[in-house]
Amino acid sequence: MTLLIFSVMVGCNQSNSNQGTTGEQSPRAQEAASSPSVQEPKTKVVATILPIYLFTKAVAGEAADVSILIPPSTEIHEYQATPDNVRAIATANVLIKNGLGLEEFLDNTVKNAQNPQLTQIDASKNIKAVNEISPVVKTGTKSHSHSHAHDHAEGNPHVWLDPVLAKQQVANIRDGLIAADPANKTIYQANAEAYIKELDNLHNEFQQTLQKTPNCTFITFHDAFPYLAQRYNLKQVAVVQIPEDQLSPADVQKTVNTVKKYNVKALFSEPGVDNKLLTSLSKDLNLTLRPLSSLESGETNPKYYFQAMKNNLQTLEAGCK
Ligand SMILES: [Zn+2]
Repeated sequence: MTLLIFSVMVGCNQSNSNQGTTGEQSPRAQEAASSPSVQEPKTKVVATILPIYLFTKAVAGEAADVSILIPPSTEIHEYQATPDNVRAIATANVLIKNGLGLEEFLDNTVKNAQNPQLTQIDASKNIKAVNEISPVVKTGTKSHSHSHAHDHAEGNPHVWLDPVLAKQQVANIRDGLIAADPANKTIYQANAEAYIKELDNLHNEFQQTLQKTPNCTFITFHDAFPYLAQRYNLKQVAVVQIPEDQLSPADVQKTVNTVKKYNVKALFSEPGVDNKLLTSLSKDLNLTLRPLSSLESGETNPKYYFQAMKNNLQTLEAGCK
């Protein structure tokens, strides 16, 4: 009998450890136990992607129970919902998305979750999306996994990479949380104010640094930076789609021509990307390949946004010099 119970418990622990959305619950439960002032049960909030999770966690603090739907370092543009995602939404009070067409999987997932109590917040409410502004250099036959983003009718979704638009997202999240959980209004207001102030400082830092290199032209492999470029007077002149197999001499020539045509100064990849095609292409182009984060993967501490963006600023400064 003892043995049987033991094996059942082990089974539960194993299945829990596989659920990305529940991974943070046990430390949170401990915190709640040690701080009796926080009202129970807390509002359950699910945020879809990392930057939206960071902003939501910053606003909510310990007043709500925030989890992330898509685990960091998962490809967010081609995301397919899992049964765990449906369960997370089925038991949540609030769902917060980036919007602008990024979370295409969400409509069906919400439908399947059948949760009539669910409040949905669009973090990009009142943000005007830009459509494609950078020409796309297509290479090879198979296109890069982000290619579909260019076809999207709702415009480019990467608004969180502009600190000014990030402030609007934080304000939208704050207002949504207050509407869903008015009891914690003062906490949400104070936390949002502090985070927005930090975003203001970040914006000033970007402005002061990048005004020294106006119209800096760069090429990326992920169409993630048009808002950032627009804000700070940089030019994302092309998005090169890298094939999965190999670059043909014609592909390389096409890209070399683009670099010449736009007088490109910088070539940006992403942190953690080790792609032989990109490395060899950067040699052919005679440009240093530097990592610029899209914040689609990284750490789950709200301060991580500032850390990654300050690294981005150093990268932009070095690349645009
Ligand atoms: Zn992206």
